[in-house]
Amino acid sequence: MVVGLGKSGLAAAHFLKARGARVTVSDARPATLIAELSGLLEEGFMVEAGSHGLLTFRRQDLIVVSPGVPLSTPVLTQVRAMGAHIIGELELGSQFLQGEVIAVTGSNGKTTTTTLIGEILKASGRPTLVGGNIGRPVTAMVDESMTESWSVVEVSSFQLETVETFRPRIAMVLNITPDHLDRHGSFATYAALKARITAFQTAEDFLILNGEDKDTQLVAAKTVPEGRGAQIYWFSTRRPIKQGAFVYGDSIFFVPREGAKPEPVMPVAEIPLAGAHNVENVLAAVCAARLAGVASETIRSAVAAFKAVEHRLEFVRELGGVKYYNDSKATNVDATMKAVEAFAGGIHLILGGKDKGSDYRVLEPLLRERVKTVITIGSAAEKIAHQLEGVVKIEGAETLERAVAFAHGAAVAGDTVLLAPACASFDQFENYEQRGRVFKELVAALP
Ligand code: ADP
Repeated sequence: MVVGLGKSGLAAAHFLKARGARVTVSDARPATLIAELSGLLEEGFMVEAGSHGLLTFRRQDLIVVSPGVPLSTPVLTQVRAMGAHIIGELELGSQFLQGEVIAVTGSNGKTTTTTLIGEILKASGRPTLVGGNIGRPVTAMVDESMTESWSVVEVSSFQLETVETFRPRIAMVLNITPDHLDRHGSFATYAALKARITAFQTAEDFLILNGEDKDTQLVAAKTVPEGRGAQIYWFSTRRPIKQGAFVYGDSIFFVPREGAKPEPVMPVAEIPLAGAHNVENVLAAVCAARLAGVASETIRSAVAAFKAVEHRLEFVRELGGVKYYNDSKATNVDATMKAVEAFAGGIHLILGGKDKGSDYRVLEPLLRERVKTVITIGSAAEKIAHQLEGVVKIEGAETLERAVAFAHGAAVAGDTVLLAPACASFDQFENYEQRGRVFKELVAALP
């Protein structure tokens, strides 16, 4: 049984069927909303739409749950109590994936870092596959994987909820900051889920962690005492590290093992991405690539040639001395902080969308220091305006269209207009990609 017919659910269903399983797919959306329905029936899948029936679920040998479906869904809790075997698509796919796996998790930076590691490995000539939470689901990577392959897999906290053997050769936790609290309930639960990326690693494997992030340090504390966890590598933008990657002076260095001489990798100035957070992403990628055996010179040229992934602090246009940046993927408060930190001042910041239970007050010091106006959109506008009252000038624009028009009127040469909304997009847009595209179109159309 495959629950949830998104991209990864469909991939899992086809994957299982191709291997001889009799597959039922179940999706809570009404049949009329499932575009793939008739195709699935024709291919011989059993389909349950509109609701999840306990009877259907009870009959299954294996239940594969899509990351979008909470494990707390009543039918899943019920069959779990009856002993059902429930895993996610990542767990399923990784059991069949050949070659080495590099797994990237964290609250922010996953896509950027996963893509960057993929580019570095490709540049080194290794057969490289990139997927997981971005692009191709893991089950769709399996057929192409070989013993010599390197698969770089972006992993979300939702996917880690349902792993039971997943053992990447190299794993990393970029950072842990509050996100998805609406789904995971508490920060502690969310942070514990991120730690599952290393749960099945052994001493032959590597775990890369952010040396400046206290919650990822707790991940290390969890693995080390048992004495059978992965070898830990750290990265830091602030201080030399005994084993891992760090910035010292103007350059990035890598220390392959404790006591070894730091190897220079590249000057920080050659990183073509804005923001200190991207230096962290590069450091993590340097660790992974060096541990995978890629030479420093190859890393250096691949990083220098890397372009920001769309919607991640993406430069859009300069108009009348005002720069416009699209960071639609800043769907939580920490990503927004990182975006604001990337500019010295004169920022007109578009905030809002669908609230995820976030606390916007933590933005206060940065807003005071660097932001001229906060322009709010979407359903979170009222909460944001209430929490930030008196901190900064706030303009309620309601729609992105009006926000861009307002920012255009308010900004003067030298200023930056930044869409980094700290919220999900689903109240006004299909997803963050659409929000980002609309923003870019609006900016492109400015006279
Ligand atoms: P993810 O896949 O984890 O969502 P992305 O690379 O898509 O990560 O970036 C998501 C958002 O977080 C973007 O707004 C980006 O500018 C910001 N970001 C990227 N890397 C980091 C980081 N290391 N720390 C904090 N924010 C980051």
